[in-house]
Formats: sequence, structure tokens, C-alpha cells
Amino acid sequence: MRRTSILALAALGLVSASEDVRHAQVLIIGGGITGISLSRALQAQNITDFVLIEARDQLGGRAYTETLHSSTGDVVVEKGCNWIQGPGKEPILEMANKWGLKTTPTNYSDSVWFEGMGIEADGQRGRFLNEDEEAEFMSGYDNFLENAPGYSDWRTNQSLVDISVRVATSIMDWIPVNPLQWAYEYWNIDFTFAQTPEESSFANAFSQEAGIENERDDFVIDPRGYKYIFVQEAREIFGQDLDDERLRLETTVRTIDYSAIVNRDGSNTKREGAPEIVVHTDKGVFAAPHVVSTLSVGVLQHQDVQWVPRLPDWKKEAIFTFAMATYQKIFILFDKQFWGDSEFIMYADPDKRGRYAVWQNINAAGYLPQNTTNNVLMVTATGDFGRRNEYLSDAEITEEVMGVLREMYDDVPEPKDIVVPRWTIDPLFRGSYSNWPLGALDQHHANLGQPIGGGHSWLHFSGEATSAEAFGYVQGAWEQGILSAEAITACLGGTCPDATVYEAVTTCEQTETTIKRRGVKSGRGRGRGGSPRRHAVMQTKS
Ligand SMILES: Cc1cc2nc3c(=O)[nH]c(=O)nc-3n(C[C@H](O)[C@H](O)[C@H](O)COP(=O)(O)OP(=O)(O)OC[C@H]3O[C@@H](n4cnc5c(N)ncnc54)[C@H](O)[C@@H]3O)c2cc1C
Repeated sequence: MRRTSILALAALGLVSASEDVRHAQVLIIGGGITGISLSRALQAQNITDFVLIEARDQLGGRAYTETLHSSTGDVVVEKGCNWIQGPGKEPILEMANKWGLKTTPTNYSDSVWFEGMGIEADGQRGRFLNEDEEAEFMSGYDNFLENAPGYSDWRTNQSLVDISVRVATSIMDWIPVNPLQWAYEYWNIDFTFAQTPEESSFANAFSQEAGIENERDDFVIDPRGYKYIFVQEAREIFGQDLDDERLRLETTVRTIDYSAIVNRDGSNTKREGAPEIVVHTDKGVFAAPHVVSTLSVGVLQHQDVQWVPRLPDWKKEAIFTFAMATYQKIFILFDKQFWGDSEFIMYADPDKRGRYAVWQNINAAGYLPQNTTNNVLMVTATGDFGRRNEYLSDAEITEEVMGVLREMYDDVPEPKDIVVPRWTIDPLFRGSYSNWPLGALDQHHANLGQPIGGGHSWLHFSGEATSAEAFGYVQGAWEQGILSAEAITACLGGTCPDATVYEAVTTCEQTETTIKRRGVKSGRGRGRGGSPRRHAVMQTKS
């Protein structure tokens, strides 16, 4: 470890002469899945001189558990990521197997449907549908779903502009007009992308070749939490007690000063030697020629961290073009199961599309133990509705969700406990996960992940949102950590290949600016965007 009060940095005005600076080859900002993966991948390349800085007192980031309390025992639930998506082809499944993570496959076809009376019910109650009635309102959307990838690819091949999912559904003659159709569409679109069909890009939601292919989704039901597998991986690097000096928990980054590695006007430059980027935190100053931000797009958008100099326009355009969506999973604990055995209970609200629409039975077969006094329902709120919920108290949310349950079921007891996650108002996350909105181009996405710098010093951008194939997913985060480590390893080895920044994203002719650098391998953000289907395609019951 090099620890000096460094005169060189002081002379540049980056730190005061009396400040103690912890130097390293690499600084990783954020101890989520990307940061852990990056640490492991660096160490695997024998690059050990790095420091991981995390604001919270624990690793895992958006892999995070909460506990529902009852007098008969606690139940651990996932406040953040919950599913291993598309198992079969991806590293997360391997890790889950390695650490014996308990999961259960989700069966989206195992659902019942309730046609509700909504907010204005005034004591009236709706009813559960029979299977024929369900099949009837689902068929139009299922046709859309079947043909959407082909249509999306056809549009791309014709060089047609991207359209919203809503425009596409309309062109393909799916125009939902009743609450059941709204709910079915909500389940397929908003429940996956956490944004509406009006907001989401059609090309990226439904492209045929890209993204995670969801043959199956596995729901994590392990009391140690989804994060367990990542923390275990981190223990292999930072020691069983996570007490390695290179891991700095409870350390919040305030300012990232990269003025030593760019020209005065902020443009990239090649420089002799390896000038350092200086990271100011609430627990001291750190400096390295390679700094990797794994901060979420939401955090970048809120400017919770200050950049010196300001980020270049092309980077800001990318950050603010992409979306950070809200996906809120509310868990409610009851001492008896008053609902049936289906995995999903769908509530079609006539007043507001998607209002407490998707209920998941966490005591369905294969989930938590049945016939106990700990019974859990999970209801999901997304987009504006989820964001609005974050400003309500737990008591207000409880009242609302109980209203829906009491319309659907008789003899609903008072809940024993409730967990209401608030990711979007949390300054360390500012949302749940990224989504590709209408209007974002491939070049924007490429720019999101492109580093800034020159020569032997680079400011890197990583994290789930920078993954071309799996943005918004655990898998994307893990893979981006590995790609960032590859880039840094190549750089430190003196063989940084060229990467491309689109300084101007234009409508017709694309202007590419190739930064010649002996440094960073791009390896990211160059393909077309992924098609992250968070959940497997629904099937009708017919
Ligand atoms: C509700 C929800 C449901 C989801 N469901 C799924 C799912 O089922 N399947 C799936 O594959 N994915 C899911 N995801 C997405 C998945 O969780 C993320 O893609 C992944 O965890 C992102 O990891 P990351 O390391 O890129 O980012 P993060 O986890 O955000 O890590 C960044 C870290 O930076 C830290 N940080 C922020 N600011 C500072 C600062 N100033 N100083 C120091 N540290 C800072 C944060 O504390 C955080 O730990 C879900 C996410 C949420 C929130």
C-alpha cells in the first residue's frame, strides 16, 4: 500500500498538501454486483493493487434483503433483484449452484384473474374469472407477442426509426381498451421493463436476437438472500471477515477529480506517465490512474457525485437519455393463507392501469413452506405509480393494499408486517434498474459505457446499465465487471486498443470519433441494445 501526503497532487491543486492519500492502480466505486465481479476479475489477472469503495456497510448493492417479523419467526425477502433470469446459459446460475442458493422456477401460467371495482368501488366487489373468460381477453396480446420480435427485426432491417412499444402494439392491432387487457399488457410490459409501453423502446424490448432468452426464471427463496452468492465471491478476495484494507465500506464518494488526465477544455488526451484521478470521500482521499464508476444511471443523473471537470456533453447526453425505472416489490406477512394456491393473482383495476395488478403467492408450491403461520404475498408497483408509493408511509401503503385484498377475498386478517422498498428516493440508487427508452440510440448506449481519458489514465464507466445484452439485470452487472477488468488489464499491460466515442449522435449520418489510445479495450456498448425480457413470455391457459 502506498500512503503518502503527496506533494505532486498538492502542486496540481487536486488535494491539500496535508491530506493523506491512499494510492492504488485501480479504484472501484460501488460494491454492488459489478464492483464485486470487477474485483474478482482483476485479482484473477494478478492485479491486486485496487481499492473498492462502497457507501453502505455491506456489499451487494441492489442485491439486498429485508426481514418480515412475526412472533412465530422471521421471513427474509428480496428487496431488490429476485430472479435468476434465463438460467442455462449464464454465470449467475453457475454461482447459484456453487453456493447452493435456494431457488424455485416461476410458472407464469399459474395465475387467477380478478376483475376489480377499483379505487371507487364504494363497497362493491368484483369477481374472479373462469378460464374461458381469461383466454378471451389474452388472445389479442398473445398474437402481438408472437409476432412482435419478427416485426421489430423487420423494422431494423428496413432502417426504420425506433418506435415506442405502444406505437408497435397499435400498428399490430393490439389496443387495450378494458381493465383486463390493461392488466395483461401491464404484466408483460411494465412488470418486465418497469416502464410503460409509451416509454419503452420497441426495438430494444422485442428484438429477436439480443438480450436474455428467458427459458425459465428462477425465484430466489434462500433465507441468506440473493446477495449471499456475491458476498461469498467477495470473501474470496477480501477475506472471510471482509476485513481486507482494500475494501472500504461506509465510505461515500463525494467528488471525482479527473482534471489531471484531460486537457483544460475537458477533451481526451494522451499523456506521458500515468497521472492520477483523485477521489474525495467522507473518509479521506484516494488516487489512481484507473477509476471505475459502477454508480447507477439514476445516481449519475442526480449528480450525487461531483465531477471535476464536468462530464463531457456526449457522456451527459448518454446518461440523461437512458432511463432509471422504478420497480417496487411490496411484501406483506399474514398469519394465515386466505388466498388460493396459484402462483399469481392478477387484479384488473378499472380506474388505474397497473394499480396493484400483480400479486405473487410466496407460499405457492416450491416457495416458502406451506401451512404455517408465516404467509407472504408480494405485490409489485412500477413506474410513476411505484415512484409515488415511495413517498407514502408504510401505514398508507398498507391501507391501500388491504383495500384491494379485501375486495378479492373474505376474512382477510390484519397483516403482521410489511416491507415497502424505496429505491428511487435512496440517494445511493435513485431507481431500481435501467431501461431503454424511446429515443435512445445505440450510440447513446455505447457512450454510456465509454471511458474518458488518454494514455495510461482512464476514468471508466461500468455497472448494469452499460451492458449491451443484459442491461437492467444481475447478469449484465456481473459481465460488465469482467469487461471492465479486461479493459484495465489490457491497459496496464500497455496494449489499450482503440475505442469509439460518438461525440455527435446525429439523425442520419453517424459521426464516429475514434480515440486512439494505448489503453482501454472497449468491448462494450457496441452492439445493438439488448432485449431484456425480465420475465418469460406469458402463456394463455387455453
Ligand atoms: C427492485 C429490483 C428488482 C430487480 N429484479 C431483478 C431480477 O429479478 N433479476 C435481475 O437479473 N436483476 C434484477 N434487478 C437488477 C439488478 O439488481 C441490478 O442490475 C444489479 O444489482 C446492479 O448491480 P450494480 O453493481 O451494477 O449496481 P448497484 O447494485 O447499484 O451498485 C452500485 C453501488 O454503488 C454504491 N454507491 C452509490 N453511490 C455511492 C457513493 N457516492 N459512494 C460510494 N458508493 C456509492 C451503492 O451503495 C451500490 O452498492 C432488480 C433491481 C431492483 C432494484
